[in-house]
Amino acid sequence: MNAIETNNKKLCELYPRIESLTLFVAFQKANADVEPNYQQIIFTGNSDATFSLHCSRDECFGGGFDYKPFIDDMMRSGDELAHGKIVCQGSLGSGDEAQGCRLRSEYRIVIRRKP
Ligand SMILES: [Zn+2]
Repeated sequence: MNAIETNNKKLCELYPRIESLTLFVAFQKANADVEPNYQQIIFTGNSDATFSLHCSRDECFGGGFDYKPFIDDMMRSGDELAHGKIVCQGSLGSGDEAQGCRLRSEYRIVIRRKP
């Protein structure tokens, strides 16, 4: 799991009011019955404020996941905890054979604000 890009901003620059942020992500194929296996990424003040991840499928083209809009929502609403699902919009294969990737990412975001 690699970050798509860094925007050269640190968490404390982008979100000065956040003390720390924990992102839990799990990837799951459509119709999979297995419990998602969450990975945990912890951001503190000096962490790169990069909240987008590549799709975990090597053959996926143009896919990926961006969690920043959810963090922005939480900052607006004052919520400390959010969770949900997003679906990869990338494609597998090319031309007439192409299929939507549709890999699901379940996420949980926990924000600890500065006092
Ligand atoms: Zn994908």
